[in-house]
Amino acid sequence: MATRSKPARRSTASVTHASPEPDLKAARKLVMELLDIPGTSGHEGQIRAAIVKQLRAAGAPAAAIRGDEAQKKTPIGGECGNLALVLPGTLNGPRRLLMAHMDTVPLCVGTKPVMKGTHVRSGNKLTGLGADNRAGCAVVLIAALEILRRKLSHPPLTFFWPIQEEVGLFGARHADLKILDKPKLCFNWDGGDPTKITVGATGAFRIMLTIHGLASHAGGAPERGVSAITIAGVAIASLQSGGWLGDVRKGDRRGTSNVGVIQGGAATNVVTDLVTVRAECRSHDPEFRQEILQAITTAFERSAAQIKNTAGVCGSVKIETRLDYESFRLKDDEPTIVAAESAVRACGGEPMRGISNGGLDANWLTARGLPTVTLGCGQENAHTVAEALNLAQFDDACRIGLRIATG
Ligand SMILES: [Zn+2]
Repeated sequence: MATRSKPARRSTASVTHASPEPDLKAARKLVMELLDIPGTSGHEGQIRAAIVKQLRAAGAPAAAIRGDEAQKKTPIGGECGNLALVLPGTLNGPRRLLMAHMDTVPLCVGTKPVMKGTHVRSGNKLTGLGADNRAGCAVVLIAALEILRRKLSHPPLTFFWPIQEEVGLFGARHADLKILDKPKLCFNWDGGDPTKITVGATGAFRIMLTIHGLASHAGGAPERGVSAITIAGVAIASLQSGGWLGDVRKGDRRGTSNVGVIQGGAATNVVTDLVTVRAECRSHDPEFRQEILQAITTAFERSAAQIKNTAGVCGSVKIETRLDYESFRLKDDEPTIVAAESAVRACGGEPMRGISNGGLDANWLTARGLPTVTLGCGQENAHTVAEALNLAQFDDACRIGLRIATG
């Protein structure tokens, strides 16, 4: 995500009503602590416990801390479910939800967060940092801690830390919505620029293909074999020449597709009889996404039917598809967007709206009836060893988060 210069701070005198400022030194200390805790998808137990400990120490009543068992519904299982803190309001108003996913990608295990100058980076050159999404966790947690410690007035609030975002948005997808207590305005932190408000995101299909050919000796009787590798190769070549791979554009319709995994074969002297392929396609336009999916499945079916041995026997392909997440686009006047924009402005920033080409927990919450915007929290180069946390952006995200939480 493009980095913008830090928004100029407005002096408190020019802010019309009380706008509590978070303790940014404490926020930076907190994010360093959270970055240091490992927690890949399905292994969020330690980070979850650390968040609960902080909440309890700041005075959150045990009864206000809630969990669910979303992990029991996900394909990978996992050691714990989603976490929420639910507070009644001291001010009237619609309930607000502030959230950030707890898991990090496996590349971040073993990180040694080091704060130097304007950024935090991993001190271990072989790992990512995990600012995606420990930075988001810290933004949401610091808002909760400030409110609890300083007894700031606030509308009804739900703080929410879901599991297993990185492996398919499973925490949000399977969250027990009852624990969230019907929030009306929902804000998710996961991204870079704190002034960018993501109001929509793409939808994606995942495609698993199992190609069966016919084994034969590659030197003795290759003509009796049917190569599963050839079936895959011909199918992929036809997708490429037809314009259905990569950046897919047909007229003014847009989408993407990728063949990401191909596995098969054990020896050069055998005609390969089994290949598995994993692919995906995405588009904001559900109909066009379906069309890309159709092009991919047709290409493999056609190729499997067309490649035959000398006896006229062809191979076969078994195709499984799954909707990973549906695309969404919030209404232009959605109250959640308006509230996010006014919080960004109140903190001296100029809000801008954006659309994401990746899936977010917001996809599932919005699909489940909770329109959700996503804001940045200083992440840079997520999912790479060059990952960093931009501290100025993180500070601003903390200020915006507390502003949103205090209404
Ligand atoms: Zn993330």
